[in-house]
Amino acid sequence: MSSRTEQSAVTVLGLGPMGRSLAGAFLDAGLPTTVWNRTPGRDRELIERGAAGALSVEAAVAASGLIVVCVVNYDASDVVLRRGAVADALKGRTVVNLSADTPDRARDTAGWAAGHGIRYLDGAIMTPITTIGTPAAVFIHSGPEELYREHRPVLDALGGTHTHVGEDIGRAAAYDIALLDIFWTAMAGYAHALAVAKAEGITARELAPFAKGIGAILPPVFEQTAQEVGNGSFSGEGNPITSAVSSMAHIVHTSEAHGIDAGVMRAAEGMARRAIGRGHATDGFIRITELLGRR
Ligand code: NDP
Repeated sequence: MSSRTEQSAVTVLGLGPMGRSLAGAFLDAGLPTTVWNRTPGRDRELIERGAAGALSVEAAVAASGLIVVCVVNYDASDVVLRRGAVADALKGRTVVNLSADTPDRARDTAGWAAGHGIRYLDGAIMTPITTIGTPAAVFIHSGPEELYREHRPVLDALGGTHTHVGEDIGRAAAYDIALLDIFWTAMAGYAHALAVAKAEGITARELAPFAKGIGAILPPVFEQTAQEVGNGSFSGEGNPITSAVSSMAHIVHTSEAHGIDAGVMRAAEGMARRAIGRGHATDGFIRITELLGRR
């Protein structure tokens, strides 16, 4: 192997839909790629495309200087990585863990890695498998910046944008949690909206063009609100929290009239009413962000 090849060799541990996409992108970029998965057989197509299939984690690790881990969560990555023989094989190599979990789990894993002489970066993938290897992919990384810079040329093979968000190893997972909070809360709202719409005789297809319009309102709100949260103003100009609470009450009443659970909306409405009770009636809905941690 030439030294360039050694430097760019990469191993992917975990071949679920995302792990297979990552390995496929490395192969498409012409990088020597070794793959391993707990359940055998998921590597077949990748091997046909030129990947080396490893029979054990130790063998997979020994093949490359950079080990990308992409399993369901850190319970799984602990099972894969935290064994004596694997830790020994990882010594002096770099692990980039792209499995999703909490900031604390990333910090705990970094502590374990440091104790075993393993170089460690954490990462979060913010876009679906179809984006991997394309400009639409979004990756967030955290951990030692120098280490990130060293491996960035290989990580670039995954396409899209890569952002290093800080040396605190938990920071990528923290971004992931915050962003998935937006996503899943919105998806819960959409699922609920579909149920209410159906009860009123509106199909998902009929709702879709208008749902897209509602979705499009959010990006400018994120921009404007970021400024307001930064300076603590929470302006309700144009849409005060009193108006928001009235709209939420309509959703609760209509849902419950159809026997549909309105728990999520009731929680949001309750928080908005608390903000009003604390004298923030002329502020915008986002004022509740300051009250969420208080009982
Ligand atoms: P999953 O989240 O379902 O993860 C499947 C992978 O985890 C498989 O390789 C599976 O192995 C492995 N695994 C699960 N438990 C264990 C265990 N105890 N020991 C060893 N391996 C285990 O599918 P994805 O590939 O889609 O996701 C991987 C990660 O990527 C997740 O953290 C996910 O949140 C993240 N992600 C995924 C996105 C997507 O669009 N799919 C988007 C953004 C992030 P086996 O085949 O043996 O079951």
